[in-house]
Amino acid sequence: MSTNGKILVIGGGISGISAAADAAELGCDVILVEKEPYLGGRVVRMNQYFPKLCPPTCGMEINIRRVRQNPRIKVYTFSEVETISGSPGDYTVTIRVNPRYVTGKQPVSQAHIDAVATEIPNPFNYNMDTTKALFIPHDAAYPMMHVLKKDALTAEEGEKLKAAEPAGAIDLDMKEDRVEEKVGAVIIATGWRPYDVTKLENLGAGKLANVITNVMMERLASRNGPTEGKLLRPSDGKEVANVAFVQCAGSRDENHLPYCSAVCCMGSLKQARYVREKVADAKVTIFYIDIRTIGRFEKFYYDLLEDQNVRFVKGKVAKITEDPATKNPIVEVEEVLPGDKKREQFDMVVLATGVVPATADSPVPGVSLVYDNDGFLVDQPNGAGIFGAGCVKRPLDVSRSVKDATAAVMKAIQIVRR
Ligand SMILES: Cc1cc2nc3c(=O)[nH]c(=O)nc-3n(C[C@H](O)[C@H](O)[C@H](O)COP(=O)(O)OP(=O)(O)OC[C@H]3O[C@@H](n4cnc5c(N)ncnc54)[C@H](O)[C@@H]3O)c2cc1C
Repeated sequence: MSTNGKILVIGGGISGISAAADAAELGCDVILVEKEPYLGGRVVRMNQYFPKLCPPTCGMEINIRRVRQNPRIKVYTFSEVETISGSPGDYTVTIRVNPRYVTGKQPVSQAHIDAVATEIPNPFNYNMDTTKALFIPHDAAYPMMHVLKKDALTAEEGEKLKAAEPAGAIDLDMKEDRVEEKVGAVIIATGWRPYDVTKLENLGAGKLANVITNVMMERLASRNGPTEGKLLRPSDGKEVANVAFVQCAGSRDENHLPYCSAVCCMGSLKQARYVREKVADAKVTIFYIDIRTIGRFEKFYYDLLEDQNVRFVKGKVAKITEDPATKNPIVEVEEVLPGDKKREQFDMVVLATGVVPATADSPVPGVSLVYDNDGFLVDQPNGAGIFGAGCVKRPLDVSRSVKDATAAVMKAIQIVRR
């Protein structure tokens, strides 16, 4: 049977980028489709990553360079796959390319930037600050290109943009485009999103100003984040000196996510270090059910146990309220070991929010695939030419995601080269 040698990778996070680069370096043509206007997924929004605590730019930059420099890889950003039809070795896919309203044919000039004053919530920073409606998503974005949120513009801004030089940099009449591609195999690497913690009404997320999530904490700690890396709490911009982390916010709970999200313990241990390194004498309390730091990550945990300013309290947090005068979150917990009920104030609380697969909300369109009860993509029946990679299959850290991506490429190659 003849097969098409091309591989489609959906999702341009660390798993998808690695899969695309591996497949291309093994001689396959690759199409990489990412729905955001930039590559990098959740990892580019982190401050540092465990266990080595390097900035995401180091690993990510190498991988993005592998993609950028390989002529076998065609990248569609701000795009989504609408349909997949056909059979292993011979799939037809339709890709919708959303309008950026920025053509890339002429540079966006200061005149264009000055034409737009409207600010919109900044999605890169989980809406903790705002950005202009004509914006570059972040300072290391690939592609390094503006995006225009046309819906947010005033009529006057639209007119100013049309008049700004050089003409041809912005096209307010740009329409979405559709492209058809033929591929032999598909790798789904659409990753995860944080659990919607506003469903945990007892923990105050979305209601109490100084209760934030772990992904927001990554942005707060980041040099290119809303506070330029200073740990300032949202209500009054005060530097935090006493921070609580609440583990399993949504995870391991039959009413929310019944599974362990696997990366949140390491995530909070890492973020406890941010607090300790950025604020002299700051205190950290971690409320946990079990600390799950598998394999070689255990050392990361033991090292933190040595720190006198970091306290571990075993107990599930029952409720978070707020002191109306100070806006300090008040944590209520039953500490398991002594069996005491505790009520304690902090400057800020970070909820260690669980991991939900992207496919729980949006199954892969146009093709019937098998998912588990929580929406994670499972291995497809024998003979399918569609494979998952990374967090769309289960919660994974970066190094495991990358290995999983390589494994998916090996399976895809068996289809396209048979
Ligand atoms: C708080 C926290 C801290 C963490 N810190 C670390 C750490 O320090 N070290 C570590 O090793 N791991 C860490 N992790 C885990 C890490 O985030 C994951 O391992 C990593 O994001 C997995 O990458 P991925 O590519 O599978 O998914 P993602 O990063 O989610 O990337 C998926 C990509 O697919 C895109 N996409 C989604 N749907 C579509 C679609 N329909 N069409 C096209 N594109 C789509 C998304 O926009 C995204 O770009 C942390 C996790 C959490 C929760």
